[in-house]
Amino acid sequence: MERTLTILKPDCVRKQLIGAVIDKIERAGFRIVAMKKTKLTTETAGAFYAVHRERPFYGELVEFMSSGPCVPMILEKENAVEDFRKLIGATDPAEATEGTIRKLYADSKGENIVHGSDSDENAGIESSFFFSTEDAVRVDN
Ligand code: ADP
Repeated sequence: MERTLTILKPDCVRKQLIGAVIDKIERAGFRIVAMKKTKLTTETAGAFYAVHRERPFYGELVEFMSSGPCVPMILEKENAVEDFRKLIGATDPAEATEGTIRKLYADSKGENIVHGSDSDENAGIESSFFFSTEDAVRVDN
């Protein structure tokens, strides 16, 4: 079993798509290990995306990610990181495969509904950004 970290971004919450997106995630076979609704500050959003610090869209990204509540979740499934990236689709919804979460619900490259970890190592780092070890203990269901 592998884990990945997702965030239902502020556009997802604003558009009242939390339920629709979780439905897609659960139907794709992911189990929710941990979940909460929270709001990032510009400092915490900046730290989460620190890897993009030098990119031209960094300021816009930090502002967007701290613009309203979001819903981070730890998800579990075999091959979770790769399968989740497939389920959400390309960063730019215009380039995303039909049926993917971003193709279905995202408006733009910036406001693209969901985050998904890009590696096993980052999944661990990103999960501890939002959740404690106790939060992330799996309850079999
Ligand atoms: P992904 O989320 O698909 O892994 P990246 O890691 O490249 O994509 O980028 C992180 C996030 O930064 C994206 O999900 C998106 O919200 C934002 N982003 C990426 N590229 C752009 C861009 N060219 N313009 C605006 N925002 C962007």
